[in-house]
Amino acid sequence: MLAAGEADRCRLAVGWHLPYNVAAMKTATRRASLQTIGCRLNQAETALLADRLKKDGYQLVGPGEPTDLFVLNTCSVTENAESDCRHLIRRTLRHSPQAFVAVTGCYAQTGAEALRQVPGLDLIVGAQYKMDLPDYLPPPHALRKLPSPQLLHQRRIDRNNFVLPGTGDYESTRANLKVQDGCSFMCSFCIIPFARGHERSRRLDDVLREAEELASRGHKELVLTGVNVGQYASDGRSLLDLVKALEGIAEVDRIRISSIEPTTIPDALLDYMATSSKLCRYLHVPLQSGDDGILRAMNRRYTVRNYAAFVEKAVGLVPELGLGTDLMVGFPGEGEREFANTQAVASDLPFTYFHVFTFWLSTSGRSAGRSRFSLSRRNRRDSGPA
Ligand code: SF4
Repeated sequence: MLAAGEADRCRLAVGWHLPYNVAAMKTATRRASLQTIGCRLNQAETALLADRLKKDGYQLVGPGEPTDLFVLNTCSVTENAESDCRHLIRRTLRHSPQAFVAVTGCYAQTGAEALRQVPGLDLIVGAQYKMDLPDYLPPPHALRKLPSPQLLHQRRIDRNNFVLPGTGDYESTRANLKVQDGCSFMCSFCIIPFARGHERSRRLDDVLREAEELASRGHKELVLTGVNVGQYASDGRSLLDLVKALEGIAEVDRIRISSIEPTTIPDALLDYMATSSKLCRYLHVPLQSGDDGILRAMNRRYTVRNYAAFVEKAVGLVPELGLGTDLMVGFPGEGEREFANTQAVASDLPFTYFHVFTFWLSTSGRSAGRSRFSLSRRNRRDSGPA
């Protein structure tokens, strides 16, 4: 793996010594296909990468279409991360055998060594370099498969607040807006702190810049997206301050907060949601388990009673609140009694929908080394906009 300072060397290495006629290839427009496995935050990042590749001269093509460049944004929060990657890369190379394949995302961070063994990869980009991925590609006219994959990776991920280049490329009225990254809560089942690092926020002025550009492109709804969005903090400004600032953009009709931890929602945010004409009356608040013993083992920061009290308050303050949650089944120690407790809470509380995940334990030892637990999305039931 490359140390931090070696990254530039890798950038130079990609595209050196080109044993083919670059001049003849310069005339053709190069195609790029991007695909995302995983969460809304990954989708937001893929949209930003797509925008940048367009600016670099690529023509974006859909999944399954012949392409010259394939960018795969991966997930670690699934038991099938590696096989999903292999499958998508194989499928792409079947119709585009010369496509340059670049893989980034959480699995590129936690499973880089395993990914190196996947045939057909040309570039693996860990979390620290993810948003700079286009900088590490050969120029469009010089794309060519490499004999072995280049690896841009370091364990340490920046903890500073950040800015992001460009504006997400979306086709729908609704656009994701990345405002935060990483998490420092360290729930025992979750690999995200290792895949994405500690919590940090996007600078407020930079969020507004992208939001204004998205609005000018006709996107009416913005979904504020991050790993732990309730922890948003930039120059003393909170998530609520950010929402208020975004409301000032005239062309934006709706602002929606994506999944948010129950312990990070202040009353002031609920009060604001109750009266705002733009902030959607919607909360996706992961519960995970309805059993206090299991919540303790998960290292969650609330008891069932705390959670229920929060829901009662939220529903009381915000009329017609749409409430969703995540539940995990099969966590170690969960028996009939603990499962029944979760069932009871899920039926008692006024959820509009819930997502159910099965717990699984990675035996590969190839994830983050310390956290070997991940969530599976295999048995996801029902769906909502979280
Ligand atoms: S489950 Fe959520 S709050 Fe807990 S460590 Fe993972 S990302 Fe952070």
